[in-house]
Amino acid sequence: MDKVRNGLRFISFDLDGTLVDLEYNDLIWFKEIPELVAQKKQISFNESRQWVKEEYNKLGEHNLDWYDIKYWISYFGLEVSYQTILNKYASEVKIFADVFPTLDELKKDFELIIITAMPREFLTPKIKKLENYFSLTFSALTDFKKLKSSTVYSKISTILKVDPEQILHIGDHWEFDYCSARQAGLQALYLDRSKTRKEKEVIYNLEEIKIKIKDKDLNSFK
Ligand SMILES: [Mg+2]
Repeated sequence: MDKVRNGLRFISFDLDGTLVDLEYNDLIWFKEIPELVAQKKQISFNESRQWVKEEYNKLGEHNLDWYDIKYWISYFGLEVSYQTILNKYASEVKIFADVFPTLDELKKDFELIIITAMPREFLTPKIKKLENYFSLTFSALTDFKKLKSSTVYSKISTILKVDPEQILHIGDHWEFDYCSARQAGLQALYLDRSKTRKEKEVIYNLEEIKIKIKDKDLNSFK
């Protein structure tokens, strides 16, 4: 067994852009919210979308509120619950084609978990079809009130009662998934679905994970 695992116990996945595509998020942030804002302010959809985008950008992805739908509902003064917004496009959640074959394979030897930056309420519609694969899910924002920083990864390895290097994290954000996880001592692979980077710890497809593990082609095996 341990030959297969190469010391690894947990495989951790980012959610958006890694397991599910970004279309669902885009529908929420760039269609539904601007539509509600347009109705509220009695302006055109295009005008509203432009303004909403500018407001998102002003805040930026390093601010925790940027990820928080409840913050934006209140910021734009919308009279709607976040559940109504999130449920509206739940059927549009799309899982990447390489996810099921990869998880089916990896679950034989590892415990699988999810670490997402997004608030926990976003997890529910997205992991409906994936729930059975994962023993635990973490939301950096809900559980730790932080972005996916090295502190969050360290705390998770403490919670899992393993050394950081026994966790392999895979995600599509260079800073939040790859650098932060490495900084905390986890193994990490950067998922580059656009195939532009060429470093050793870069994969273009989730199916490459098992090859990287098998070939000991991870950080601590240099
Ligand atoms: Mg992501």
